[in-house]
Amino acid sequence: MQDPRNVIILGSGCAGLTAAVYAGRAGLQPLVVEGLDFGGQLYTTTDVENFPGFPEGIMGPDLIERMKEQAARFGAEFVSFQNATELDFTQRPIKVTVGNGDVYTCHALIIATGASPKQLGVPLEMELRGYGVSTCATCDGAFFREQEIAVVGGGDTAMEEALFLTRFAAKVYLLHRRDELRASKIMQDRALAHEKIEILWNTEIIEFQGDPQSGLQGLHIKNNKSGEESDLPVHGCFIAIGHDPNTEILTETPISLDDQGYVTPDGQHFPFTAVDGVFVAGDVHDHHYRQAVTAAGNGCKAAIDAERYLEATQGTEG
Ligand code: FAD
Ligand code: NAP
Repeated sequence: MQDPRNVIILGSGCAGLTAAVYAGRAGLQPLVVEGLDFGGQLYTTTDVENFPGFPEGIMGPDLIERMKEQAARFGAEFVSFQNATELDFTQRPIKVTVGNGDVYTCHALIIATGASPKQLGVPLEMELRGYGVSTCATCDGAFFREQEIAVVGGGDTAMEEALFLTRFAAKVYLLHRRDELRASKIMQDRALAHEKIEILWNTEIIEFQGDPQSGLQGLHIKNNKSGEESDLPVHGCFIAIGHDPNTEILTETPISLDDQGYVTPDGQHFPFTAVDGVFVAGDVHDHHYRQAVTAAGNGCKAAIDAERYLEATQGTEG
């Protein structure tokens, strides 16, 4: 492998792989550090119906594999099963250390490490992700037309997801662990006033019921005030208890993070960061849209700006 690389891309989700397609096609031979979760969030879901170009929909892992194939076709190379564990911006080229201790260097870096939906940590939650348990109403809501479904959480995201889901569902149970919502008043008022939304206060999920073959069959729930346990027979459950951006490796660097840990562009416009030659793309920066197509669009922008940066500083031509 050539060293230093023109560009290293951290992350193999929609943002990272799209950046790899563009950087590869520009002749930059990017190196993609895939991360421990190859393919990112989309690799954990089933049908993707809103990514343009696939009128019949496409399975999340298929879409990701195609993106990787496309990037490889243009010369991208991949470091698999490794997270970047340390970044050194104090000298040039930039130094990237990965989990097994290997070190790679580059003139430009694209950070596309995404975000991870928070988990409840309840039995069968992960096994049923994509089979009735979801973390994205925009993505999966349409699969539950005229059904009764549940949303977990008491913040703005949960209110937003519950309200959005009323477009499809016959009824939305909003499960919250306390007797007071955390969401802003306006969002609370909308949810509380909606005829299709019923809030189950002080309620926790003890267990998800079902299996990947038959899908989610119901929730075993508990009222944490009364101790009463019961079953809620829903086939869709949306967990909306927040996301954590994958930015641990940035906390000791000059890259600016907002109060929730997301990368902020700082000074210049997106996709530039506070560090020269370091660009950002996807959900690690964008906690508003959180879609495959917007992450891919971000990846495209980051690669184009990285290419222009290299042209200006290294004389590299695409
Ligand atoms: P991610 O997909 O989060 O990818 C991040 C990548 O970075 C991963 O490969 C990870 O391993 C890697 N990484 C993390 N830390 C490091 C590190 N230290 N070093 C190197 N790599 C690292 N959107 C839609 O448009 N349509 C849908 O139908 C849809 N369905 C969804 C279903 C589910 C269940 C979920 C969770 C999300 C869904 N989304 C959907 C949202 C979409 O998946 C995300 O918006 C998109 O994946 C964001 O892409 P990303 O590349 O920014 O980040
Ligand atoms: P949040 O405000 O942190 O709320 C998370 C909710 O999930 C809380 O109600 C919390 O319960 C609950 N929760 C957390 N962990 C849980 C667990 N293990 N089990 C059960 N419940 C759990 O997160 P968010 O709703 O994603 O919002 C994040 C930020 O984005 C906020 O600043 C929000 O205002 C903003 N946002 C704004 C809008 C909007 O304005 N339209 C929309 C979405 C998000 P507790 O309340 O008991 O802690």
